[in-house]
Amino acid sequence: MKKIAMVDLKSQYEKIKPEIDQAIQDVVNSTAFINGPAVKGFQEDMEKYLNVKHVIPCANGTDALQVAMMALGIKPGDEVITSNFTFIATAEVIALLGYTPVVVDVDPHTFNIDPESVRKAITPKTRAIVPVHLFGQCADMDAMMQIAQEHNLFVIEDACQAIGADYIFADGSRKKAGTIGHVGCTSFFPSKNLGCYGDGGAIFTNNDELAAQLRVVVNHGMTVRYYHDYVGVNSRLDSIQAAILRVKLARLDDYAAARNYAASYYDKAFENHPKLKTPARFEKSTHVFHQYTLVTEGVDRNAMQEFLASKEVPAMIYYPVPLHMQKAYLDPRYKEGDFPATEHLCKTVISLPMHTELDEEQLKHITDSVLEFVNR
Ligand SMILES: *Cc1c(COP(=O)(O)O)cnc(C)c1O
Repeated sequence: MKKIAMVDLKSQYEKIKPEIDQAIQDVVNSTAFINGPAVKGFQEDMEKYLNVKHVIPCANGTDALQVAMMALGIKPGDEVITSNFTFIATAEVIALLGYTPVVVDVDPHTFNIDPESVRKAITPKTRAIVPVHLFGQCADMDAMMQIAQEHNLFVIEDACQAIGADYIFADGSRKKAGTIGHVGCTSFFPSKNLGCYGDGGAIFTNNDELAAQLRVVVNHGMTVRYYHDYVGVNSRLDSIQAAILRVKLARLDDYAAARNYAASYYDKAFENHPKLKTPARFEKSTHVFHQYTLVTEGVDRNAMQEFLASKEVPAMIYYPVPLHMQKAYLDPRYKEGDFPATEHLCKTVISLPMHTELDEEQLKHITDSVLEFVNR
């Protein structure tokens, strides 16, 4: 059996090696390392794939979130609401920009931001909501947009884990994750669903004015060359990364299908198990399975992770600590017990290997190993 990895980028690369190597070589030959034709080409491919008016490439997903907030003109002291159960970057940029991160609980089944909790967290200082489409499935965007409209707020989608997922509206129409709110953000970190071979990110919007402002902010706040009307940042996607992403974007839907195959295999193996809850599907979204995350019940999770490691099955805890319990983000407004769903998930979740190259032999070994532990 091929060695099992949490994410197997090597096997994926081997299948597309000639195309990737050529794409990299072309950029090197052109020496257009920054803002070369590959970046423009990728931007256009992505706009077409997402059916969105503007894609603004940038250096990483964290920058995408930061730049989005800067371009929207959110001011220090303003409150920004986000999910308590997410990767730190979401809250980090809010704090970094001098805004107040306001965290809210999640739906215990979908792991995504709970609309009722968002409503309760709104104050006169609230300016924006950042729903995170966690583990590859969209948050309830109907609810988010409704709440935002009622309270005149911006919606910034953190689509770092859900690129390619479809949101399905009541009338059956669909939009891609990241293109529903005022602005959407994604990451091309290597292990993400659309990963490059280094760092990368992008921002999406259908609003022409906001797109113009996003382009100014990523480029040192520069409106006319060497005239700086705003304090901006330097956040660019390298041409080499863009060239790699063009090759992989053409396969993104196939990659999502491979991830769904693995997820279905896991679902079937663990169906109705009293100690394992398989990930719920939200009826308004397709799932692109950035992670496959089980909720355990009455299981010693550390022992399970150790047992799996002894069988050469890697497993990870995403995420062990809620944002409000992170040392750097402790806030007198919050205490342990305030966010029951998030706190329970942090204690009980475990994510299994999930990537585009898992074969049946590996899936069988992973599920057999998990079942051996929970059934003993
Ligand atoms: C990966 C990730 C980010 C940050 O992306 P980087 O490219 O690593 O900066 C932000 N939010 C979420 C939910 C992520 O998973």
